Amino acid sequence: MDDEALYDAGDFGSWIQARLDQVASNDVAVACGDCTACCTTFEGITIGHDETETLAAISSFHLREDTRFANGAKILIANPDRTCPMLVRGKCSIYPVRPRACRAFDCRSLAAADLIDTEGPGAALGARADQWVFTYDDESKKRQLAVLDAVEFIHRHNVAFRSRGFTYDPTVTATQAIRIHALFLVGKPTTQDAEAKVLAEAIGILRHYANLSFASR
Ligand code: SF4
Ligand code: SF4
Repeated sequence: MDDEALYDAGDFGSWIQARLDQVASNDVAVACGDCTACCTTFEGITIGHDETETLAAISSFHLREDTRFANGAKILIANPDRTCPMLVRGKCSIYPVRPRACRAFDCRSLAAADLIDTEGPGAALGARADQWVFTYDDESKKRQLAVLDAVEFIHRHNVAFRSRGFTYDPTVTATQAIRIHALFLVGKPTTQDAEAKVLAEAIGILRHYANLSFASR
């Protein structure tokens, strides 16, 4: 990976709309080049019970039950240094049948939500995400401000989100902020009642996406 390079992330408005529309297909086009940062960052990757080709391609030695789900989902366990065991000589050895989570991952979300961490275990992912450069028109600038307001809202209400089963970490928070950002296009809530209404709507939107994602499996 070239640490000095910058990469064109495209028009922010078009990108975020594609990200919102992406649930049905799960596949997302990212110009990754030789980068494998997200294959060396996570402790594990969830694989749905229906991803039979993927599960068949991975030795059971690398799989554990994902006890968060009652439907037989597995976790592909990373090596102690967080490198995915399917990464062989710098390439995904099961690329045609890689997990849905890998196909859906787009590190531009971290850039869009300003949730880039260039230290600690996610440093390589953060460094790569930091290299994306979006272009903006007036509308897409408003959208990004709304995403940033959504991130701040999720941080403020992280207990409420977690108590409803939504995970709280930078990559998940970025995706959630993108999904609920439209609630903030009119500005931040300014009263307690408005805050509670936005929270209820945000949770409804995230549950909707969770159901869509589940239905597409
Ligand atoms: S970190 Fe980003 S650019 Fe690198 S492989 Fe993952 S999605 Fe692609
Ligand atoms: S399964 Fe393939 S794409 Fe997914 S993290 Fe492992 S090496 Fe990367």
